[in-house]
Amino acid sequence: MRLVPVDEATIEELTTILRDGGVIAMPTETAYGLVADATNARAVDRVYAIKQRDASNPLPVVCASRHQVHDFFDSTAQEMALGMLHWPGAVSLVLQTSHELFRVGDGVTVNPHDTSVAVRVTSHRLLQQLAAQLEVPLVATSANISNQPTPYSSVDVVTQFGTQQHQPDLVLDSGNIDRVLPSTIIHVQDTEVVVLRRGPVEC
Ligand code: AMP
Ligand code: MG
Repeated sequence: MRLVPVDEATIEELTTILRDGGVIAMPTETAYGLVADATNARAVDRVYAIKQRDASNPLPVVCASRHQVHDFFDSTAQEMALGMLHWPGAVSLVLQTSHELFRVGDGVTVNPHDTSVAVRVTSHRLLQQLAAQLEVPLVATSANISNQPTPYSSVDVVTQFGTQQHQPDLVLDSGNIDRVLPSTIIHVQDTEVVVLRRGPVEC
């Protein structure tokens, strides 16, 4: 696990790590997150291993833009309106995907249950740039071992993973970041907006 100051890492270096199936711990618009290519089954498996997370608990993803969401996920007019209202920002919307890279049972495991994926357009500039460069959604889940506190500093991240067998490849050191709750998660059921997890944005 390498610790690199955020302003010393280049987009090219970070993109290469993600393209090779690597996992980067980095600040997001909420907490420090573990970031990986959401369409790479090996990378997604590594996120589960690093988090020591139950493989049945699906991972949320981020996109660079609403356009990228549209490319990978299906949305109704109501869901598109919710995206217009909240994105970019810390509201994840549970959408269906029929994209071949997310097909259940086809080696991709962000959600082992069905074809729903919790997705948001991130407002974090670097994370946006990485998803845009990779041209795929990225897993972005809080950078903590399951049931441990959500991390808001690179020290928190290194402390949690430093002695573990499975570690992120790189930690982008941005020092302390603002303590923003993990994203609000919403799901449109019939036409009702159901809040699955309360977060920084009231929905
Ligand atoms: P974390 O990975 O700790 O940032 O938390 C993500 C949360 O999103 C977890 O509570 C997951 O159960 C939830 N989640 C992820 N994907 C889905 C989905 N497809 N449907 C419903 N909840 C989801
Ligand atoms: Mg979490």
